[in-house]
Amino acid sequence: MRGVTCDGSTIRLRHDLSEPSPLAGEVTLRVKLVGICETDLQLARGYMGFQGLLGHEFVGLTESGRRVTAEINNSCHSCPVCRAGRTNHCPNRTVLGILGHDGAMADHVCVPERNLHAIPDSLDDRQAVFIEPLAAAFRIPEQVDVGPGLAVTVVGDGKLGLLCAWVARSLGASVSLVGKHPEKLRLAGDSIRPVLRESAGSIARTQDLVIDCTGSKSGLETALSLVRPCGTVILKTTIAGEHQLSLAPVVIDEIRLIGSRCGPFPTAIAALEANTIDVRPLIGAEYLLDEAEEAFRAAALPGARKILLRVG
Ligand SMILES: [Zn+2]
Ligand SMILES: [Zn+2]
Repeated sequence: MRGVTCDGSTIRLRHDLSEPSPLAGEVTLRVKLVGICETDLQLARGYMGFQGLLGHEFVGLTESGRRVTAEINNSCHSCPVCRAGRTNHCPNRTVLGILGHDGAMADHVCVPERNLHAIPDSLDDRQAVFIEPLAAAFRIPEQVDVGPGLAVTVVGDGKLGLLCAWVARSLGASVSLVGKHPEKLRLAGDSIRPVLRESAGSIARTQDLVIDCTGSKSGLETALSLVRPCGTVILKTTIAGEHQLSLAPVVIDEIRLIGSRCGPFPTAIAALEANTIDVRPLIGAEYLLDEAEEAFRAAALPGARKILLRVG
């Protein structure tokens, strides 16, 4: 079969891969559409040392033709961490297309049957590819109270930044979006206040909650400059690099610093179905799987919208 492999320094489309064999509890899906995520670009640069097939935002078909997507953490469901309800942190887990498990940029992918979520008929494939990243944005209100009266700033006007801004806005918060690209700030819509990076000083030390979605080293520093004393900073950025930052301001201003990763799929599906979040402005171009290498180059361009790969 065909698939997009990552060897930690480059990605390659291959035509000579053997069919995947399902592990216990897994089903084999026929892949329809996959999104290229910032994490895929990081993995291709060596983040996590991942080697294998990429792809964790996808739509597939079961053997009976049901349209599904899948949660990406393949957890053991029997260790103490899983039994305590923190399955996304299972120490025995693999992660689809990210850690120890081949992903969905291929003709077929195997995933645990219990990770499947049916895609409602009202959502097309292109919207459904956003379920995984939108779920990650909905992780934030699981971790902190977000609602009316809260001043929220999202730093980073990439796709995850816009999703996080829309989620906070949908819950009633006053949301500002800090970014470098006026056209991407406009994409966020009228209900989100656009703030160009160079003017962010105007809201320094005023924000109740600041969410770093920059995907860059400087994001945490910017977030810490905007949050008010005793406020909260949420880190969504994972980068293949190290921070060199004084954390004294975190202590002096008693900032709560929270890491945030995967979130609830059912909430994301419900928001897309109810159209409280419209992801369609984020869609860039659609390529065929056979054009994967070109598609990755397009996804890596600054300011790129979501690049999709049509598989079947
Ligand atoms: Zn992703
Ligand atoms: Zn476990």
